[in-house]
Amino acid sequence: MKIDISKLKENIGESEYYSIDEFLGDGTEPSGKIKWLKPVTGRLKLTNTGVSLLIEGEIHTAALLQCSRCLKNFTFPVDTTFKEEYFEKQDDESESESVKEQLLSAKDLSTFFYQGDTLDLDDLFKSSIHLELPMKPVCDESCKGICPRCGQDLNEGKCECKIEHIDPRWDKLKGFLKE
Ligand SMILES: [Zn+2]
Ligand SMILES: [Zn+2]
Repeated sequence: MKIDISKLKENIGESEYYSIDEFLGDGTEPSGKIKWLKPVTGRLKLTNTGVSLLIEGEIHTAALLQCSRCLKNFTFPVDTTFKEEYFEKQDDESESESVKEQLLSAKDLSTFFYQGDTLDLDDLFKSSIHLELPMKPVCDESCKGICPRCGQDLNEGKCECKIEHIDPRWDKLKGFLKE
């Protein structure tokens, strides 16, 4: 999503409001496995603070993830909020000392920049959504997973293998009892 900020840049203290409806596209994620089921929707507020453009808002979407236990695909809804500052990128030496100080004091290094009259928000949407995605997705907290020997989906019933099926939920407890 690209926003024309030519007007806002001239008006310190002003805010603009936008609604979001943007499809991020498949296969663009670092993990390579995520399929987006819905466009990203939501709304945002853009404020010219005088030093930066402050952007706040909320986004909603849904991804198709693969369960790390049973390997089935399932829908994972994402609803999150974001708040980020965009600083103007200067490519000459005219950058004032105060702006430099502001940049140095900006807490995290993932600070976003804009150049010219356009603000591109796709990276912001992607990073906000990624923070919400689980490292080890599970279709359901009670998912029993698959048998490591025969591949039987243990949610659908036990298999004939004579190995101990450990409920993944008890992994931690088991480790604890061994100690
Ligand atoms: Zn599962
Ligand atoms: Zn089995």
